[in-house]
Amino acid sequence: MSIQQRLNGLNSRQQEAVRYIDGPCLVLAGAGSGKTSVITTKIAYLVQECGMSARRIAAVTFTNKAAREMKERVGSMLKGKEGHGLTVSTFHTLGLNIIRGELKALGYRPGFSLFDPEDAKALLRDLMNKDAQVDADQINAVQHQISQWKNDLVLPGQALSHAADDDEQYAARVFEAYVRHLKAYNAVDFDDLILLPVVLLRDDPEALARWRRKIHYMLVDEYQDTNISQYLLVRLLMGERSTFTVVGDDDQSIYAWRGARPENLVTLGEDFPRLKVIKLEQNYRSTGTILRAANTLIANNPHVYDKTLWSEMGEGAAIRVVVNRHEEAEAERVASEILTRRIKERAEWRDFAVLYRGNFQARLLELKLQHYQIPYKLSGGTSFFSRNEIKDAMAYLRLLINPADDNAFLRIVNVPRREIGPSTLEKLANYANDQASGRNISLFAACHELGLEQLLPARAMERLSRFTHFIDGVRRRMDQGDAIDAIRGMLHEMDYEAWLYQNASAPTIAERRMANVWLLVDQLEKSMDRDPEDTASTETETDDVEAAISRLVLRDILEQQAEEDDSDRVQLLTMHASKGLEFPHVYLMGLEEELLPHRNAIEVGTVEEERRLAYVGITRARRTLTLTLARQRKTYGELMDCTPSRFLDELPEGDLEWEGRADREDPEKKQARGQDAIAGLRSLLG
Ligand code: ATP
Ligand code: MG
Repeated sequence: MSIQQRLNGLNSRQQEAVRYIDGPCLVLAGAGSGKTSVITTKIAYLVQECGMSARRIAAVTFTNKAAREMKERVGSMLKGKEGHGLTVSTFHTLGLNIIRGELKALGYRPGFSLFDPEDAKALLRDLMNKDAQVDADQINAVQHQISQWKNDLVLPGQALSHAADDDEQYAARVFEAYVRHLKAYNAVDFDDLILLPVVLLRDDPEALARWRRKIHYMLVDEYQDTNISQYLLVRLLMGERSTFTVVGDDDQSIYAWRGARPENLVTLGEDFPRLKVIKLEQNYRSTGTILRAANTLIANNPHVYDKTLWSEMGEGAAIRVVVNRHEEAEAERVASEILTRRIKERAEWRDFAVLYRGNFQARLLELKLQHYQIPYKLSGGTSFFSRNEIKDAMAYLRLLINPADDNAFLRIVNVPRREIGPSTLEKLANYANDQASGRNISLFAACHELGLEQLLPARAMERLSRFTHFIDGVRRRMDQGDAIDAIRGMLHEMDYEAWLYQNASAPTIAERRMANVWLLVDQLEKSMDRDPEDTASTETETDDVEAAISRLVLRDILEQQAEEDDSDRVQLLTMHASKGLEFPHVYLMGLEEELLPHRNAIEVGTVEEERRLAYVGITRARRTLTLTLARQRKTYGELMDCTPSRFLDELPEGDLEWEGRADREDPEKKQARGQDAIAGLRSLLG
């Protein structure tokens, strides 16, 4: 397709935005109106129509996934060498490239390391523990504060002199030590990826000239989520030339907690008086029903810019709201529906996306999807089976059903710590695999052999046999009685929980990890009762548990293989990670008060941002949207009753199709609630 044909496929305002190249340009428009399409087409236009070298163009966005998608879209438009040297990346990758190219000017040595937030936290913990014992919350608070300072371009000295109270003074002092240590380690943290380039370009005219020669045109997607330093990076790079296009939607600003400034949309007009503002109004993504829901919801927020959004995609199906007994039923429902709907709708797995507020919500869902053997891809967060605690537990299970599984043996022989050292294990392996004698037995079997005693010191031998006796004992109990009981007993007896506590940075993390392990055992138990037809009646319980464990192991392996190919899979992501993406069928889970809107947001009064998040979630859907919630959910280890999200009340009643609601809220209660709200408002107004 020629660039002319591509342009013809766009509406007139989009075309105008693509063609306008002489000055700064802002496209401000609602979801699904083709903002990203303007960016991708404009890149092709600059190269193919204006003869600009792709090397001189940088397009940036926020998530890796969005950058990858954009790259694909552009890649299909540019032929052969046309795209060589083009930068399509996240802000942070662009920053990393600048740092790589400017190591000397920045005073770093080659081979610097990038600290992820966990590394940074560990360093902070060391620094803070020097003075007094501090807890995880304090460390998090200081880390957050430092990150804010960096995003606002505040240096340690300034932080110290502007500190408003003792806490800030303390944080500023830690900040100073933290920066000094990072530098000594030749390391940068995540926020430095933007901060260092900005400071360099601001203070070093030669470096600035170098980068201005390199980048002639910039395009920024999801501009509403830029923070001060990201904005400055764009401004510095573009300078007077001001050849850039930014696109955004203030209703989709969902990163205020990371310092994003939707006001940057306004600032842009002030900093660049020549700014051309183009608004788009037609949505090409969603059905009328879905779009109406999104518009009605977001109308509850105050607006800087008025935007209208309409669609010609037809009314489409009603939005389903499915109320479930509890969170497990919710996950079960979503998984089993996707299984049947794929066939009914003649859809592919990848046409379905399940979105949620927090990664923890994916846990149960993953198990259910695996139960139905539905391929899925989890973005962000750690997939259930790749968690360390689950890998440990799986290794125990594997060893229990197959003591000859050497990999499982090696993974857990020292977990929890049994003081069985590497040299003991090496001798054990040599003995088990003795070429000379032709001996070729498993590590576990070798531990039982008398011959080994001659090779190992008595202490080491004793530790090894204590371990093998322990496992043998569990195996015996599994044979004789309730296998699941024996497994639970094993986890208690070796005090795996204490081990998790020793190794976690915070008790809550250890708690969650242990809960994951129990969840795995529960699932194992369930999968034993649920598949009675799989096993002949003559088989014993041990056979059942073996079969169930093997199924778990297989799922684990299948999942690891699936990890490699990105093809046809159900997408699981947080609403934050879903920005800019679209799917034919979307499930939005957990529409409950305290989850969406999130409890913290309710407490600190940032419900508007949560509403934008819900808006982002809803506007990902092209054809159908299903909202789910649970009547009860485990929160902090306790089963709690949930209240449906206020956002459900804000959607157009007539477009919703409720399922499983015991009874609609009784009108008296609703009225009472209304009166409460009025009373609250009155008291606020004094
Ligand atoms: P978001 O705010 O969610 O990031 P967006 O404004 O970036 O959305 P796009 O993703 O660019 O919107 O476009 C949404 C969908 O509409 C895409 O499938 C895109 O291919 C399609 N689209 C965009 N412009 C047009 C057009 N003029 N005609 C037909 N389809 C279009
Ligand atoms: Mg977009």
